[in-house]
Amino acid sequence: MAYVLYNATLHSSRLNRDEADAVAVSGGRISAVGRTDEVRRRAGKGASEIDLAGRSVVPGFIDAHTHLIPESLAKIRFHLGDVRSPEGLLERLRERVREVGAGEAIVGEGWDDSEWGGGYPGREELDAVAPRNPVVLRRVCGHLAIANSRALDAIGEEWSEVDRTAGVLRGMVALQVNRIFPPSREDLIRALRYAEELAFASGVTSVHEIASRGMLQLCMEERERGTLRLRMYFTLPRGDVESARQDGLAAGTGDEWLRIGGSKIMADGSVGAKTAALLEPYAGDQENRGMLLHSDEEMAEMVGRFHGDGCQVLTHAIGDRSVRQVVGAYERVMGAGGNALRHRIEHVEMADPADLERMARLGIIACMQPNFVVRWGRRGGMYEALIGEERLRTSNRFRTMREMGIRVAFGSDCMPVSPLYGLDGAVNHTNPDESLSLDEAVECYTAEGAYAAFEEGEKGRIEEGSVADLAVLSGNLLEVERPSDLQIMTTIVGGAVVYGALPGGAESLSDFSVDTTKTA
Ligand SMILES: [Zn+2]
Repeated sequence: MAYVLYNATLHSSRLNRDEADAVAVSGGRISAVGRTDEVRRRAGKGASEIDLAGRSVVPGFIDAHTHLIPESLAKIRFHLGDVRSPEGLLERLRERVREVGAGEAIVGEGWDDSEWGGGYPGREELDAVAPRNPVVLRRVCGHLAIANSRALDAIGEEWSEVDRTAGVLRGMVALQVNRIFPPSREDLIRALRYAEELAFASGVTSVHEIASRGMLQLCMEERERGTLRLRMYFTLPRGDVESARQDGLAAGTGDEWLRIGGSKIMADGSVGAKTAALLEPYAGDQENRGMLLHSDEEMAEMVGRFHGDGCQVLTHAIGDRSVRQVVGAYERVMGAGGNALRHRIEHVEMADPADLERMARLGIIACMQPNFVVRWGRRGGMYEALIGEERLRTSNRFRTMREMGIRVAFGSDCMPVSPLYGLDGAVNHTNPDESLSLDEAVECYTAEGAYAAFEEGEKGRIEEGSVADLAVLSGNLLEVERPSDLQIMTTIVGGAVVYGALPGGAESLSDFSVDTTKTA
């Protein structure tokens, strides 16, 4: 069934709003874009017509950096974000023990001792409440967890930073809890469905998901069954890449629903934890410049290996010192062909102008988080406290970087998943010189994300032949002060309404099932 959205305010790169206010959708693709009369005529008599009364329509947002399935798993599994005391934490555990069978592992997430001024239960207290189930409860940051004796018995000697007396796990072992106590298949499927709902409610139709091999497996099975509804470009952490390759899952394979992306490397930590590697010390902390996770040699070796395998590399680099290291490593592997594998740097919150010049010259893609500007980059916020006024002004340089010719794709890193919230930071940067126009910001959240995943021929623009992934907003973006003053009214994937409804004729459209049958 075909339909026409007309009287719309369209936002898409390469589209002139004065010449187009209607979109026709047919067979899951955009079949026409242009003036209402012409698009109606081309769509033919059978097409439903929906008057959007001037509302904005954008290409379905492409969130170019997510950990949506792990985040969703944390939410649906055993979420402790509402706990307000150590006693409350133990009480919730007591309830959980009654719900699950004896022996079943209990993995909880999200408690935050800063809610009650610090301190948390240890091994003995957990043992008293749960003597028969392995229990691991991870702090909201993910980098620390508490565990009981049963759980500690199951954690092998190969893991370091395990305090077996206190029952505290730190660093890698805490981050990798799902590897030691894998979630059930049921939980994973529930997490995936939750992730899809979360994305669709935000107008997101594609994500560049960074998650484990096990989660990729689940998505592949869902894809096989035709039940995957959110489009994914799936990137694996570097430790999972080799096994995936042995299973024949090379970068770039897949289809318009699920494609294998690159491999993820971490170069440094975060500003908040003062572990992002900086060229100059943190504000008021002369000894501390953060830390690089690898030597220059190690970084070059890892990048070289993935590059040699024809695999895109996505490297997390937040501080200006780590950005310099990663640019150097990329530069070493790139020949005259330039950045054919579209290697990316994730975050790039701080960067020396000379390194930005090199990124531009080499064609290195930046995946950035405009929501960080809103969350941490305002006056008196976390950036200013930790890196000072001067470096606050030169952080997250959207405009400077684009003007240099660097391609900038926006992603949320799930903090939170909400492009409209992120767009606030892009169009109203704390340093006005770094603000983007609305259309530029939308381009970063759509077409540039498609480019960063080799999918620019398929999606990211409102143009004929593209997949019909669209988000309809509750009003006109050109008429509001901040993008987040509007809500997502309708999200459309492959022509089908997956969230909300369209005005008039809406019921019939929401009946559409997504056509995910394999075409190739
Ligand atoms: Zn991330």
